[in-house]
Amino acid sequence: MENTDPTDISVTAIKGVGQQLAVKLSRLGIFSVQDLLLHLPFRYEDRTQRIPLGSVQPGQRALIVGKIEQTGIAYGRRRSLVCRISDGTGWVNLRLFYFTRAQQNNLRRGQWVSCYGEIRHGRGTFEMVHPEYRVSAGEPTIDAAQTLTPVYPATEGVSQSVLRRIINNALQSHVSLLTDLIPDQLLRAKHLPTLDKAIVDLHQPSAEADLDLLAAGDTAAQRRLSLEELLAHHLSFLQLRAQRQSLRAPALKGQGSGMSRLNATLGFALTKAQQRVIAEVLDDLTRATPMLRLVQGDVGSGKTVVAAAAIMRAAENGLQSAVLAPTELLAEQHFRTFHNWFGPLNVDTVCLSSRMTVRQRRLTLSQLVAGQALVAVGTHALFQDDVEFDRLALVVVDEQHRFGVDQRLAMRDKGRTEGVIPHQLIMTATPIPRTLAMTFYTDLDVSNIDELPPGRIPVDTVVVPEERRDEVIQRIKHACGFGRQVYWVCPLIDESEALSAQDVSSTEKLLRESLPEAAIGLVHGRMKSAEKDKVMAAFRDKKLDILVATTVIEVGVDVPNASLMIIENAERLGLSQLHQLRGRVGRGHQQSACVLLYKSPLSEHARIRLAALRDTSDGFEIARQDLQLRGPGEVLGTRQTGIQRMRVSDLIRDRNLLPSVHELGKTMLQQYPQRVPALIKRWVRLGDQYGHV
Ligand code: ADP
Ligand code: MG
Repeated sequence: MENTDPTDISVTAIKGVGQQLAVKLSRLGIFSVQDLLLHLPFRYEDRTQRIPLGSVQPGQRALIVGKIEQTGIAYGRRRSLVCRISDGTGWVNLRLFYFTRAQQNNLRRGQWVSCYGEIRHGRGTFEMVHPEYRVSAGEPTIDAAQTLTPVYPATEGVSQSVLRRIINNALQSHVSLLTDLIPDQLLRAKHLPTLDKAIVDLHQPSAEADLDLLAAGDTAAQRRLSLEELLAHHLSFLQLRAQRQSLRAPALKGQGSGMSRLNATLGFALTKAQQRVIAEVLDDLTRATPMLRLVQGDVGSGKTVVAAAAIMRAAENGLQSAVLAPTELLAEQHFRTFHNWFGPLNVDTVCLSSRMTVRQRRLTLSQLVAGQALVAVGTHALFQDDVEFDRLALVVVDEQHRFGVDQRLAMRDKGRTEGVIPHQLIMTATPIPRTLAMTFYTDLDVSNIDELPPGRIPVDTVVVPEERRDEVIQRIKHACGFGRQVYWVCPLIDESEALSAQDVSSTEKLLRESLPEAAIGLVHGRMKSAEKDKVMAAFRDKKLDILVATTVIEVGVDVPNASLMIIENAERLGLSQLHQLRGRVGRGHQQSACVLLYKSPLSEHARIRLAALRDTSDGFEIARQDLQLRGPGEVLGTRQTGIQRMRVSDLIRDRNLLPSVHELGKTMLQQYPQRVPALIKRWVRLGDQYGHV
């Protein structure tokens, strides 16, 4: 039987797409006919009307036509070819900075040109710089486009005109194969067009279409597609939840005094929020269905204790837990914490790191496989095939956004025996707004630690241009004089560890020169883990006053005596990341401060970010603003959700569609369950799916 599902048909089925072009298209994520049909324009140009030269406006992109009155070379700061064209209503200059002799000859006086480009203020008149143009001997009959002209995401070797041509071919030959999976009457009730109409409308909007609405993603066609895409993801998450609930996990009943003994070794009283969240977690654990709970809590809210309580419960039942940390530094810190807490309770903790000797590693592995060690802390090292557990009952994932879903699943499968999988506890300091959580984490339960331990004083944040570095150094001197410790953070520049290592080294040198009496340490990503840990240990043990670091310290590092943080090039970092970094201070009882050093001039975006950070200490509020500024894919990590791979929709922009998504989701499941798999398949790409359960 011929396959007529555009999801399955290779893009080479389209007229004009051969093997070579197919390879290039794959760089745009286009593999199937459906991918091509859903490769939507990111903006449009209006070439449907010729604009009289007398009425062009600066900033406008316009199709104009005129007769060349004069052509010459202008010698300003840069040499350029300038042609003045006029159409009787006014005149406009065309300016080319790069031009060939042939172009110069062609653009001679008396010829006509039609051009498309942006109108700008020029010297004494409006001009177009490097427009697209076509020369003709007489006044051209303008074949103004019948529809708005789409502008697509393109790539090397795949130009706009190629994309326009092959997409047009695909629309002709295949768009009708995209059947509507959302029933007609439901669409009509929402005044939304059918799928094929929506797709045609977006590739070729009529000349009357509203460009502003299009840019805002708010036309009926756009809402139609966004709705369907969000619906498909929503349904896929619901399905995963159902699948999970059909699996089993060890029911971990309370077995006596574990929790109270843990409490006694902590050395502090739990906050109300911690107590509540721990109760929620323990309640999940008593069930025979696998827990999948996300614990959200601002930096410093004390998430580690929640993990400890869950681990304790598993240990009471004689079962093992694995704790996944995103960095060696953090794994080591968790190991120490758990070792301190569980040691007195006779619960053995081991740490599995990538730098262990073969012998150490073998020993640790044997303790795990024999079930002797009940707690294993580690980074990716825990995923390796030779890591086996005796009876793994719980997987804790710290700082979730650092891990891909696949990694989480790989870990979970380590504890899998005959349909029984471990419980999972995921902890994150980058909270997900409720509406997003409802749609995109419907397979997760969520707990919030919405309270900081008592005595925390909000960090005093200031934004300072780097010209005032000397003042900042004086401030450090002052703080060190009082026995305070200081972080100086240099973010990754150009994504190159080599460069930023240089950068931290020169900062370290500068600080050594300015503050000869201070003990200064340095950590960066290029150092060996052992060296890094040595420096961190020295800082923790107060042998160092100042720690100069790249953003390796961003996640989770806990040194309560550190009360001053300087962040260099703060304008380059995202809000959530800055907030995470800042969370390294303000953990003790003294007033802490964070200095955001920036390089002028600040972009508008950066200015908003830094001001938001200065004025807000609430992680939830910061996450909300960050989502608004950068979008969920950036903030929450690309791999975890597949959110970034949305084709049409944008969770922030389209959040007002979410109620409809939920409502439609219910209807589809109740009345059209047979359509659900096709709908999911159409929009949710393999690999985005959590659950090969
Ligand atoms: P995060 O949520 O950022 O992972 P941690 O679990 O690292 O936070 O806790 C931050 C610090 O607060 C740690 O030093 C921890 O021991 C301490 N802490 C946690 N809970 C409390 C509490 N209820 N009272 C006092 N200190 C606490
Ligand atoms: Mg933490």
